[in-house]
Order: sequence, then structure tokens, then C-alpha cells
Amino acid sequence: KVRDQTRPSTPGRLKKRIAVMTSGGDAPGMNAAVRAVVRMSIAQGCEAYAIYEGYEGLVQGGKFIKRMHWEDVRGWLSEGGTLIGTARCKAFTERTGRLRGAKHLVLAGIDALVVCGGDGSLTGADIFRSEWPGLLAELTKLGEISEDQCSSFKTLNIVGLVGSIDNDMSSTDATIGAYSSLTRICQAVDFIDATAYSHSRAFVVEVMGRHCGWLALMAGLSTGADFVFLPEKPPQDKWEKEMCRIIKTVDPNPSTHPPIHRAAGKRKTIVIVAEGAIDRELKPITATYVRDILVDELRLDTRITTLGHVQRGGTACAFDRILATLQGEEAVKAVLESTPDIPSPMIAINENKITRKPLMDAVRLTKAVAECIKNKDFAGAMDLRDPEFEEYHRAYMATTKPDELSEKAPEDKRMRIAIIHVGAPAGGMNAATRAAATFCLNRGHRPFAIHNGFPGLVRHDSVRELNWLTVEGWAIRGGSEIGTNRSLPSEDMGMVAWYFQRYKFDGLLIIGGFEAYHALTELHSARDSYPAFRIPMICLPATISNNVPGTEFSIGSDTCLNALIEYCDAIKQSASASRRRVFVVECQGGRSGYVATMAGLSVGALAVYTPEEGINLNMLKNDIDHLRESFANDKGMNRAGKLILRNEKASKTYTTEIIAEIIREEASGRFESRTAIPGHVQQGGTPSPMDRVRAVRMAVKCIQFLELNKKPPKEVFEDPSTSAVIGVRGASIVFTSVEDLRGVETDWDSRRPRKAFWLDYRGLVNTLGGRAGTPTG
Ligand code: ATP
Repeated sequence: KVRDQTRPSTPGRLKKRIAVMTSGGDAPGMNAAVRAVVRMSIAQGCEAYAIYEGYEGLVQGGKFIKRMHWEDVRGWLSEGGTLIGTARCKAFTERTGRLRGAKHLVLAGIDALVVCGGDGSLTGADIFRSEWPGLLAELTKLGEISEDQCSSFKTLNIVGLVGSIDNDMSSTDATIGAYSSLTRICQAVDFIDATAYSHSRAFVVEVMGRHCGWLALMAGLSTGADFVFLPEKPPQDKWEKEMCRIIKTVDPNPSTHPPIHRAAGKRKTIVIVAEGAIDRELKPITATYVRDILVDELRLDTRITTLGHVQRGGTACAFDRILATLQGEEAVKAVLESTPDIPSPMIAINENKITRKPLMDAVRLTKAVAECIKNKDFAGAMDLRDPEFEEYHRAYMATTKPDELSEKAPEDKRMRIAIIHVGAPAGGMNAATRAAATFCLNRGHRPFAIHNGFPGLVRHDSVRELNWLTVEGWAIRGGSEIGTNRSLPSEDMGMVAWYFQRYKFDGLLIIGGFEAYHALTELHSARDSYPAFRIPMICLPATISNNVPGTEFSIGSDTCLNALIEYCDAIKQSASASRRRVFVVECQGGRSGYVATMAGLSVGALAVYTPEEGINLNMLKNDIDHLRESFANDKGMNRAGKLILRNEKASKTYTTEIIAEIIREEASGRFESRTAIPGHVQQGGTPSPMDRVRAVRMAVKCIQFLELNKKPPKEVFEDPSTSAVIGVRGASIVFTSVEDLRGVETDWDSRRPRKAFWLDYRGLVNTLGGRAGTPTG
């Protein structure tokens, strides 16, 4: 641990000073970022500062620049907006304003500035850094700072964190706040959905996004909206006709040529319009105009809902809290590792990997999108967005609009694809099934659902063909619409093969958790004896435990985390409101500590107990000492409830109840403990938007995998890569064959992968929770 960052050039001052500020529009998760920067800085032996009110505070100086202590950010994870304030500051856009800002930083002895904001804020930060030597020279000339001060603050470290609900920054897949905002939008659309269905109405929903359609597109994907309007992808000319056609399509034969929407019996219509939506001539497409068309052309009872500022509101979702925390940690590391010749970094995320990107490149690319749109170069605008955006757009089109794909699969490549759920229900299973089915229909395949898992198949011949209307509404539903079951095919492999042959399946999609993966390994091995399984087979991991080998992320785990943190936030509040109390919360997750660890990061747990690490007396003793100290430091405003998260299988001996009792005994009346067991609440009700959108993207990729591997049975048999698990690994989405996974990568006894990326996060949970050994002052 780096305890003291000595600066020999600054006699009398031993510690590096790192300041953090939030700027531009507020975004949920900004507080988590500030908390992480403050606590990481202190833990690394530096002094932490906050600059209140964004650049305005920098220009004003004085009381706006405040030293931050460990306790100052206690409880901040569950707060919305930004507690250190934000502002749009005109003065900072001019050099004189920045000159005053530089003076205040030097006088406060601040070496590094972490700015959390949108592209405007980060542009300002980069300009500030590039001007820094000139600003200091001028301040010295004016006598505002001394020669000594000038030479000891020769360089200013700037690190950018992207905090913005629009998700409009290039080079990163997600910005802090975007998924929370999407959650709010989806909640609203889900509510509207019910009333639209009841009255058979149409709704036009306007969402934020002046230059970026991410929120609109993702909301469309997660709610199964009929049409979306985005700034960077204007619709074709005469789109009015096309929109009406899609909403009203008539076709007598649903299985061969998918009709959707009204004519097929759909009772509701949802159209999502980004506030910056335009047509190809750059004419704004407004919600009012869309409504008028639906009323005039289709005679639909149509209402407009403009969501406005509710999209910024509320507490951050689990993903944003984790993202902000990991990025805050990375920002402090970047400060400590920076040298004058390294350009200012922006902390990004690509798939599941936290990365550093040159800040100015990211800002330049972001601005270039707006420029392309202005010049009607829409292909260029889409190219500049991350590939993931384009992929999501294609997935939306392919699962929503008939005929959107110019090419159906050639006749001889068309397939009969079986979809089955195996294991416990997880959020997003239905969204994945719907997306797989609609994508199949669009490509000319025939999707079949096997209801109630393998027992359903062998006992009840439970196979039903899916069409557009059967899966209508599944995008937002929790649980498993086709029924799921834990049983493995080995219970009656012969019958499973017989049914596969009878239905002439030539591709299989298994959606589920560890059992689904296990089932796939069994079917793969059974290819030896049963030719019916010599077809491409793919497993789409869906489980709250996130314990499937071959992926770092399973759909359903985000829904679970959100349900769990909502629960934890509530009991934490109760813990702080009542007497001095610690809650020991029992988390699900089987023998995987993923959920407990990530929830620990999201709620700021004091300690997390996982099966991977186990529990021993020494740990308990240290944690109880830490609790004593922590309660002793709780004063006035900084009082906050305390949580310990224990995975259900972390230890046979130290049960949740026993840990609570040991704490009670040891506290000797100075504080008390309680247990809290959320149980099946963790499976979540409505799936989170992140699970829904990932489900759609993954499901489409799974069907593409099956298409690609449609080959004669002999070739499939000889090629083990035709049985695979789709997964996120680091910055990529990959297919890994079960043969590669079932050996070294799988811990069969503990039913989890042998290596898990999140194990590295345990140290961070401990550091930010101030667990024994972390310097906190
Ligand atoms: P959002 O994504 O919410 O709009 P943003 O960071 O892009 O966030 P802006 O209003 O563009 O929001 O910028 C916030 C502040 O950053 C501005 O008020 C200004 O102080 C500073 N800023 C923006 N652009 C520049 C610039 N080119 N030079 C200096 N400072 C700037």
C-alpha cells in the first residue's frame, strides 16, 4: 500500500492532493464516483478534496474547495443526483475564468483533478490541462503565485469520468447514469404499457437524447416498442407510410410471413421518440407529429408522454454504482501512475472491462457524431458510434420489424430451432426467448418452445411453435413464460433424442444457469450414441448466481442485484434510523459469491462473506473490531446503517443467525445486530433493462451461431465448437465450446467457473468499506 506520496519539491507537504468534481447535467452514480475517488485517495495515502458546484466552484475558490474525509462520503452510494453540486459555468469557457481556477487549485495545493461530467465538461478539462503551463506563467507574472508554487505544480493531472445520462460519449460502452436513466424510462413505459393495453391505445413517448439515440433505442429494445426515432439513424423517406404499415400489417399466415402489431391482434402501440429525432432532411420529428399521423392515418386513440426530468431522478441502479466505483478507483490509479507525457485519460468501459482512453480522442469522436448528423452523413454518424450501438440497432430492427432484413436465409438453410429453459427462473429469459423467436421468424426459420424443461418434453410432449403474437409482451415479463425445470436430459436421454428426431430439430438454444450448461455438456456427449443431437447447440447463460463457465455475465444477475440493493438500501435506512444496528444480510448465489460481492460494492457493505473465501474466526474478530471502531466514529450527519453481506453457502458453521449472535454478544450492548433474508425477492419481479437488452443482443447472436453451424450431421459431430456457450469475456463477446469449458474451466463440485473476474473486486470492497488494514484518515 502506498501510504505517503512524498513530494520532495514541496517541503512541508507530504501527501498528494486529489480533487474531484461533478459537472454538466447531474447523473445517478455521480455520488458513487465521488465516494470512490475520495476513499481510494485516502486509502492510497493522499488527501482528498471536492470542488463543489462544478467549474463554478473552481472559478470561485474559497469555500467551494473542501477537504474530504472518510466519513464525509458515508451513505452516498444510495443517493441520487450529485451531493457536491454541479453547474453550467460560463466563466470557465473563457481563459480569464480558467486563470482564476488555476490560481485556486495551486493555492489549495491540488495536484490532480478528477472531473465527472459529459463531453462539454471533459472538453473544458482538457483545454484547462493544455493551457496549464501558460496559466501558471501568467499567474506568476501577476504575482498571484510564487515561483516556487509555479515550479512545484508544473503539471496538472486531469482524469475524466464520463457522467451523463445520454450515453453519448464515444470510446465507452456506458456512461455513469445511463442505465439508471434507462431504468426510469422503462419503468414509465412498462406502466404506460398496461394502460395502453387496457384501452387498446397508442402512446408516443419522448425521451432525452439531443444528439444520441441510445436511451431511445435501448428503451425500444427493452420494452418491445413498435417504432423508435433516433437522431443518428433517421428513418427512410416516406417513413410515415412505413410506420403505419408496421403498426397495422396484415398477413393471413403468421408462421411463414410474420405479421405483427394491430392486425395480428396486438392491442397496444408504443412509439419512442428521442428529443433530437430528425428526418433525412434534418427536420425534427416531434412526438406531436407522430401522434397526428397515428390518429389521422390509423385512427388510433393516441396519447403523448414526455418523460422530462424524471429521467434524471432517483437513486443509481446497481450497474451505475458499480461502474462509478470501479471507474473512481481506476481514476485514482491513473492519477498516481500519470507522467507529464501521458495524455489525459478518460476512464471507459468496454463490455466488461474498465479501460483508459485518451480523453481528447474520445471528445473529438463524440463531437464528430454531431458534425456528421449536421452534414446529413448518417452512415458516418453510426460508424462513429461504438460497434455495440449498431449491433443493438440491428437487433432491434430484426426482432421488431418484419421484412427489415433484406435477406431471409436461403431455403436450404432454414431451420427448425428448439428453445428450452433449464434451471431456476432469471430476469431476461423471456426477453431472450422473444428475441430469438422473432429473429428466427424474420430469417425464415421456425422456432419451437419446449415447455417445462426436459421433463416437460419427455413426459408431456410439450412442444409448441412460436409466432409473433405468442411472444408479444414477453420483453418485459419476469419468470419463465415457457416454464423451466432443473432436471437434466440424462434422466431420459433416449426419449429426449426421440422427440428431437420427431420434431426434426436442427438447432437448439438452451437458456438457463449452471444446469443449462450441464445439460448442454450431456447432450454434447450423447452425440456419440444419438444422431438427433448432431445439430448445433448453444447455451445462453441466464441465472442470478452468474456462475456459468464461459461468461463473466449471465442475464438475470443484474435484475437480482437491483432487487437486492433496493432491499439493502431500505434496511440500511432502518438501521441508521433506529439504534446502532448492523444487519447481516443473507444473499443467494449458490456457491458463487458474485451477487454478494457486487451487492457489497453497490451498497457499501462493511464486509462480504463468500463461499470462495469462506469464513473463519479471525475474519469475524477483525470485522467486529472494525464495527466497534466504525460505530465509535459515527457522528451526527454521518451516521449510517451498516451491512454485512453473507452468501447463503459461505460457511456451514457460521450461519447468518450465528454471525448475528456472535456480533450481538461481542458488542456488549454498544450496538446490536439483526439478520435479514431477502430470499426469492432476489429473483426480481420485472427484469432490469440491462438484462432485457443484453438478452436481446445475445439471443440474436445465438441464432446467428446456429445458422452458421448448420452443417451435415457428420460435420457437426466432428466439430466440437458446434456445442458452445455464449459469453462476455473482458472486452469481447465470445463463443466457447463445451469441450474447452468442461475440463479445466469448470469446478464441477462447486458448480462455478474456476476463475472469476470479480474475485479481484473483493479487495476493493474491503478498501472502500474501510475493512481492517485500510488507512482511513
Ligand atoms: P451533459 O452531457 O449533461 O450535457 P456536459 O458536461 O456536456 O454534460 P456542458 O453544459 O456542455 O455539459 O458542460 C458543462 C460545463 O463544462 C460548462 O458549463 C462549462 O463550464 C464547461 N465547458 C464546456 N465546454 C467547454 C469548453 N469548450 N471550454 C471550457 N469549458 C467548457
